[in-house]
Amino acid sequence: MSSKIAKYEGTEITPEDLRRERYLMTTYHTSLSYAWSSGVATGKYLAGLKEGEIWGRRCNGCERTLVPPRMYCEQCFRATSSWVRLEDRGKVVTYSVSYVNSDASRRDQPIIVAVIEIAGGSPMMGILHLLGEVAPEKVRVSMEVEAVWKSQQDREGAITDIVYFRPRRKE
Ligand SMILES: [Zn+2]
Repeated sequence: MSSKIAKYEGTEITPEDLRRERYLMTTYHTSLSYAWSSGVATGKYLAGLKEGEIWGRRCNGCERTLVPPRMYCEQCFRATSSWVRLEDRGKVVTYSVSYVNSDASRRDQPIIVAVIEIAGGSPMMGILHLLGEVAPEKVRVSMEVEAVWKSQQDREGAITDIVYFRPRRKE
């Protein structure tokens, strides 16, 4: 059976076209503003961060504590049950040492990005954050860490209200 799909070859721009500027270029400048509803669970989570608190949601079906909190349990297909205030510490589940910025430029000093399993949450419930006050070669999986918060007046209800997690200082 022969194909009836037409083949469109298009018009290739050659180096000669570029050199002679035989092309049309249009630039748009847009300005978009929008509002986003955080929802109940994320709203309380962010409000908690502003107060220097980390909140999770308990599911009585699977007995897990979800961090970040969700109003619906994806394992049980049911509404989660109650709020649980968690500690602002945890342990490193995994981490990555990066010498590259988000715009792909090179960093002089690396950043250490880690998944932190928050104490009081269920195993493997964690948040992605930065590690600080530790050399990359000293970081270990399972290392106990604690949150370093912005000062109260600088907190705005965002995950960046935690500046980073640092190795936990023994009490
Ligand atoms: Zn559940």
